[in-house]
Amino acid sequence: MRLEKCWFCSSTVYPGHGIQFVRNDAKIFRFCRSKCHKNFKMKRNPRKVKWTKAYRRLHGKDMTQDSTFEFERKRNRPERYDRNLAENTLKAIKKIVKVRADRQSKHILNRMKGNKSAERKRDAKELEQSIHMVKAPGALQKDPSLTLVKVTRRSEENGMKE
Ligand SMILES: [Zn+2]
Repeated sequence: MRLEKCWFCSSTVYPGHGIQFVRNDAKIFRFCRSKCHKNFKMKRNPRKVKWTKAYRRLHGKDMTQDSTFEFERKRNRPERYDRNLAENTLKAIKKIVKVRADRQSKHILNRMKGNKSAERKRDAKELEQSIHMVKAPGALQKDPSLTLVKVTRRSEENGMKE
């Protein structure tokens, strides 16, 4: 059973699924679903469409270089059937899938590392810029010791009393 890759989104195309387009220069394009086929007909570049694998790889969203990808290769010569080999391969597939999943989740964690502090910074900036919505500007002028943190805490307390 040969599993093909979708030309547009790079997902797996199982036999009997999707659509295949043969251009008049005999190049074969396979699509996993009509969504990908339509996008191809619209002459969209998969690298510029955010939900495709090509885009995600290009922009460092997905893991690109990993030893687990090397097992998945396209072989054009048929392999002679060997029961032991098949058995070992099936066992190995499970292990490799697990290793890859672990590495991928690690990759995501690494990618998201700086996000929390950046978010905090953005929030703090927004609060500073629109503090007049929380506290009247007059009150801030009367008591300039009011820092941002104090203001937010007080407003929280008020909210709880009410
Ligand atoms: Zn697709």
